[in-house]
Amino acid sequence: MLTIKDIKVRAPNLKALEISWSVDSTFEDILEYDTYVLRAGAPYGPYEEVIGPLKDKYLYTDPVSLMDRSKVYYYRIKIVKEEDSEEFPSDTGIFLSATPDPYGMEMARIYNLQLYINTRKVVLYPRRRFGQRCVECWDKDTKRRIKSGCETCYDTSWVGGFHSPVILPVEIVETGVTAPKGSQLGSYQMKHGKGRLGNLHLITENDVIIEGENTRWKVVEGSVKNVQKHRALIRQEFDLVQIPHGDVEYRLPVPDDFFENMDPPNNLMVPMDINYGAGGVL
Ligand SMILES: [Zn+2]
Repeated sequence: MLTIKDIKVRAPNLKALEISWSVDSTFEDILEYDTYVLRAGAPYGPYEEVIGPLKDKYLYTDPVSLMDRSKVYYYRIKIVKEEDSEEFPSDTGIFLSATPDPYGMEMARIYNLQLYINTRKVVLYPRRRFGQRCVECWDKDTKRRIKSGCETCYDTSWVGGFHSPVILPVEIVETGVTAPKGSQLGSYQMKHGKGRLGNLHLITENDVIIEGENTRWKVVEGSVKNVQKHRALIRQEFDLVQIPHGDVEYRLPVPDDFFENMDPPNNLMVPMDINYGAGGVL
């Protein structure tokens, strides 16, 4: 049986609670399990199903209003395998511990809106950090990867490598290139950049971002910074490094129609010249 852990509740705005969870690492097939999110108005229930069955999903955004501060929502995660089922946590439930700050929430809402208007969308692949271990490249005994270029786990050692992709606006600014380096695939220059994202999806290091030109970036380890107001998350900032073309992350599929529906690139490298932009020399 799988064990659910790290159940967390977060408020991205005043109209929703985001419930996320993970599982203990396992060699079982996680697709054999169905997951349900349960909600109650009191710690000991009664708990009702709000979504499910989910398969290999670890996040659900529950559309509840947080305007009424007297209400507290408690959550549990239930997993079912054939006839067996278990609920986590077994006692009481998980709830939003800090009351969301309305000013911080409003700043986050405006920032998200600006991003949706001004910034083009990218494909974001959240990297897996838990779940089913890859038997192709992960050695149970030494707890090490034994080969690279693995298409089962994209070299993450977790089956699938990444969670389902999310399409959302991320502001990307190129900050420079490193000197050309030699590799088996010839010499290449690695681009560096900075990224910004609102509070509707939490980014983590080594997540993969795909732009409209199929440029692929990786979120640099240790670079994610959260901009907060009164502990409300407003936006996230992080460093990016371009993934070399031959790397296994280039085999991650891009959702249908993504390239066709792409906006033109943001020309954020070039400072706006208002005289030129106004239609000629003034
Ligand atoms: Zn693997």
